[in-house]
Amino acid sequence: MQDVLHDVLYLVASILFILGIKSMTHPRTAVRGNMLGASGMLVATIVVYMAVMNRGESLASVNIGLIVGAVAGLVLAVKIEMTAMPQLVAFFNGMGGLASLLVAGVNLGFVEGTPDHAEMIATAVSGLIGSVTFLGSMIAMGKLWELGFSKWELPLPVSFRHLLNAVLILICLFCGYRLTGDAGVEWYLGISITGCLLGFTLTSPIGGADMPVVIALLNSYSGLAASATGFVIGNNVLIVSGSLVGASGIILTSIMCKAMNRSLLNVLFGAVTKGEIADADEVYATVKSTSAEEVAMMLETAQRVVVVPGYGMAVAQAQRAVRDLATILEANDTEVEYAIHPVAGRMPGHMNVLLAEADVPYEQLKELSTINPTFDEVDISIVLGANDVVNPTAREEGSPIYGMPILDVDKSRVVIVIKRSLSPGYAGIPNPLFAQDNTLMLFGDGKDCITSITTAINT
Ligand code: NDP
Repeated sequence: MQDVLHDVLYLVASILFILGIKSMTHPRTAVRGNMLGASGMLVATIVVYMAVMNRGESLASVNIGLIVGAVAGLVLAVKIEMTAMPQLVAFFNGMGGLASLLVAGVNLGFVEGTPDHAEMIATAVSGLIGSVTFLGSMIAMGKLWELGFSKWELPLPVSFRHLLNAVLILICLFCGYRLTGDAGVEWYLGISITGCLLGFTLTSPIGGADMPVVIALLNSYSGLAASATGFVIGNNVLIVSGSLVGASGIILTSIMCKAMNRSLLNVLFGAVTKGEIADADEVYATVKSTSAEEVAMMLETAQRVVVVPGYGMAVAQAQRAVRDLATILEANDTEVEYAIHPVAGRMPGHMNVLLAEADVPYEQLKELSTINPTFDEVDISIVLGANDVVNPTAREEGSPIYGMPILDVDKSRVVIVIKRSLSPGYAGIPNPLFAQDNTLMLFGDGKDCITSITTAINT
């Protein structure tokens, strides 16, 4: 009877997770989605309590885990900067992988007699995906935080790297085969250590504009590892929630690949295109700068204005200032829209979240494919802290970001670029847009510049 009750409650938790993910598909319902997901987690935690109490076991270890996890979650949620959210997501993915790795490993200690083959296969899968996810996510987190260790990679030619990866995969398969035979902890350790090495060799060479794909993929891996662990310990909610994360992560990965015009195999195994990086001094020889007052005068006569937000808008927290400027322009009969690049910022949907938070009407957010054909009818494009997503070198063969779809702001009549300096974006390459004839640079912090433009229009 108790088992039936637990299964029914796990079903309720799973339904809450599914409804939560469904609500996350739109910025307006995303907060509700978060609440639904958290409620699902609460129900699942209550079932754990009930199960442990029914077995008459001590709740001490559950309580310790809960307190440590809740305090860490609370501190991180309160303290973390919005701009560090992607790093935090990468960290969570890594911890998910590590948890699966450890739980499946600990379960080996309870195996008695002849091991169940299916359970051992699930254990090997948990160990492999969990360890790849753990180290891969730590490196991805380091890359997003620009930490020194994440830049280190094996000085091997691409073909040797592929060979090394193939050898590591074979070692994992061999250890997995032996594990199914005798449930030996040493084979599991072999899978875990080799899996960590694989996480390193697969993730360390990927960088620049390909990072969004890697992060989405690691997110999916963390779900698959959890799902496999669910099979190991016979926990239905872990199987369902892990599959949900795995499937939604794969869908996100495919969306990101499409956004970058890259195939997944190309991102994972392709040589990292270092490409030719032009000399910044040469590229920026003809840069012209402007002032907030001059931009205000131009905006007063513009009929159609497009704002192109990027990572710098998130750093400057300029979203509300932009919305205020747009309100003034609209009162002057100017049409204002926002061009959203799928990989702008540092996490999928980053710009949508920020603009929704500032109550920018959702209908004004235009996707790349919708807005690109209309840029030649735009009077002024305001590029606010965006760089890679508007870099025209993506159209040139040999460029490190060649093939990445970009927002065609360079086709607008006037381009105003707001950023603090001429430093490059995440991909680390100069942007010839800044030196184009129709471009004017407004140097400064994104929020300060937008506020100064608004003040100049109002006076
Ligand atoms: P970029 O990283 O290309 O450029 C951001 C620009 O913002 C910088 O050039 C910087 O210039 C400027 N900036 C920083 N702080 C401020 C500030 N306070 N005020 C004004 N400007 C500021 O951003 P994009 O959004 O154009 O491109 C995103 C990049 O990140 C892509 O390469 C993408 O592949 C990558 N990426 C995306 C992820 C995703 O999921 N969306 C995940 C991981 C990576 P300056 O210092 O001169 O001010």
